[in-house]
Amino acid sequence: MERHKLIIIGNGMATSRLLDELLRRGAGRFDITIFGEEPGGAYNRIQLSPLLAGETDLAAIQLKSTDWYQDNGIRLHSGDPVVRIDRVARRIISRSGVRCDYDQLVIATGSRPARILAANQALEGVFDFRTCDDVDRILGRSGHCREALVIGGGLLGLEAAHALNKRGLDVTLVHRAGWLMNRQLDRFAGRLLRRSLEARGIRFVLGDEVAAFEGDCELTGARLKSGARLTAGCAVIATGITPNIELVQDAGLTCQQGLLVDDLLRSEDPAISALGECIEHRGRTFGLVAPIWEQARLLADRLVRGLATPYRAAPVPTQLKVSGISLFSAGEHLDAPGLEALTLSDPAAGVYRKLLLRNNRLAGVVLYGDTADGAWYFELLQRQAPLDDLIPMLPFGRAYCEAGTEEDIDAPPRDIAV
Ligand SMILES: Cc1cc2nc3c(=O)[nH]c(=O)nc-3n(C[C@H](O)[C@H](O)[C@H](O)COP(=O)(O)OP(=O)(O)OC[C@H]3O[C@@H](n4cnc5c(N)ncnc54)[C@H](O)[C@@H]3O)c2cc1C
Repeated sequence: MERHKLIIIGNGMATSRLLDELLRRGAGRFDITIFGEEPGGAYNRIQLSPLLAGETDLAAIQLKSTDWYQDNGIRLHSGDPVVRIDRVARRIISRSGVRCDYDQLVIATGSRPARILAANQALEGVFDFRTCDDVDRILGRSGHCREALVIGGGLLGLEAAHALNKRGLDVTLVHRAGWLMNRQLDRFAGRLLRRSLEARGIRFVLGDEVAAFEGDCELTGARLKSGARLTAGCAVIATGITPNIELVQDAGLTCQQGLLVDDLLRSEDPAISALGECIEHRGRTFGLVAPIWEQARLLADRLVRGLATPYRAAPVPTQLKVSGISLFSAGEHLDAPGLEALTLSDPAAGVYRKLLLRNNRLAGVVLYGDTADGAWYFELLQRQAPLDDLIPMLPFGRAYCEAGTEEDIDAPPRDIAV
């Protein structure tokens, strides 16, 4: 039987997972070839934060060695990005000139760090935070300087700040919004987070932006839009991501923010599917792996077994990989018309809970300090059942709610202010 030629462009986390799913289903009818821009086998990008912090090493974050591909009969062209897709000939061309024909093509090119408008970003000492190579270069530089700047107060920026702080640098984080993780936390939880990180020695400049990096060839500091000046020998930019879609745009495929795919993860060309951070599905793009795992499962089911199960993006909770800080956020997180907010705060214990309800159903949850009930709230959020009688007890957590459904509870636990 002639094997179908399957080419995958990109060798990141989505591809690694897709390969596992394909092999699990017995992908013998496919002759698989992968082109990856980065050198070597796939690694766990999530673990770049612990790697930067010195909490893990390169070997521990490797997902697949180059031998693994060979052992599984998969051809890997690493360090050789695809530069052109010829959809008429069903052929790709790599930067080194390799030409390869396909029957099915999968795009998994991920995304890259979003650009900021600041001047002089090409100065030595200004880095992105996306790849193993970035971590290598940041570490090379941070060994020779005392002060570091991190730009961006979202998940990645905070993890980078924590990592550099652990490495012994004086870290200042500059964030455009008025509070940290403003896309996942409300102002109050953002303030608690700031307080915890300040206690570790990280400084914050909020509501401001870098106008220009300063230095001759090498970074010496930054000028902010407010006019303030900060000194630093190293800066890490972590302000968001942009899907890598230029390759497919050049091939004439329709893109908006990402490559547009239908519910079966197909582009408008039936021979080309896609998954991961490069896609846009029903107006959504992706920045966490949980939805990508589901995409990999469904795509493997379709490619190997011909199953046509539609993909539906589900809410994904957010957690921060900074040891000693517990936060959990899922669904909506800001007050808005039509939403009822229930909050519970115990500032002395550093505990805060906010639950947002719409039509008696949970629409969002923000937990800070004690996240033990995160999974339970998340289940309520996904189930979308009316909560009715449970609502007054909801902020006190699962144990209280479950006890409350069995016996009468008329007073909240002491020493918690609602
Ligand atoms: C520091 C850091 C921490 C993170 N922490 C978390 C976390 O805690 N939880 C979480 O869920 N997610 C986290 N993420 C996000 C997660 O890593 C991504 O969602 C995931 O890696 C996306 O997988 P992907 O395969 O779509 O993209 P990627 O993993 O980026 O892989 C895409 C690959 O395609 C390559 N490529 C691009 N263009 C071409 C081309 N033309 N030819 C060949 N190859 C190409 C790229 O170089 C890259 O290697 C983190 C990300 C970073 C950077």
